[in-house]
Amino acid sequence: MMVSCEKAANICDKYQYKEATVWEKIQLKFHLLMCKTCTKHSKDNKKLTTLCNQARLAVLSEEEKKKMKENFSKLK
Ligand SMILES: [Zn+2]
Repeated sequence: MMVSCEKAANICDKYQYKEATVWEKIQLKFHLLMCKTCTKHSKDNKKLTTLCNQARLAVLSEEEKKKMKENFSKLK
């Protein structure tokens, strides 16, 4: 039943477009409750959008995070 961080982030994308099934939403919530990688980004924020961001952060590699930071600094 445990889905990967990547799968969780994927369900988040579908969720935003209201394409996620009830089963997928359950899988997502369950993952975010159980996954230490995702939960370590925030302690007790129960908002789903925030949880989705946690899943994404867990999926991103160090290199991708670096690229994101570079893009942000360019915008300033
Ligand atoms: Zn995770």
